[in-house]
Amino acid sequence: MKCEELVEYVSDYIDNNLSEELSEAAREHLATCENCRIVLNSTQQMILLYREHGKAQRIPKQRQQALYDELSAAFAKRNLNQDK
Ligand SMILES: [Zn+2]
Repeated sequence: MKCEELVEYVSDYIDNNLSEELSEAAREHLATCENCRIVLNSTQQMILLYREHGKAQRIPKQRQQALYDELSAAFAKRNLNQDK
């Protein structure tokens, strides 16, 4: 699984709405990818907040895009740090 896919599936992963295969792929990816673990954590927190306020059950597409932008920024930063 790629980071792009993880970001796409992350809310379903949290909700256990993924097929066994996808969920397994997500777990494997999360085990090796720190950036996606950060995405998972912030998405989880965001979902909790949304539900507390009773606003929405799903993450708005817009917010998902913002998450993905954060992820890309994190990658860019990491690549800079690893400049060899
Ligand atoms: Zn990743």
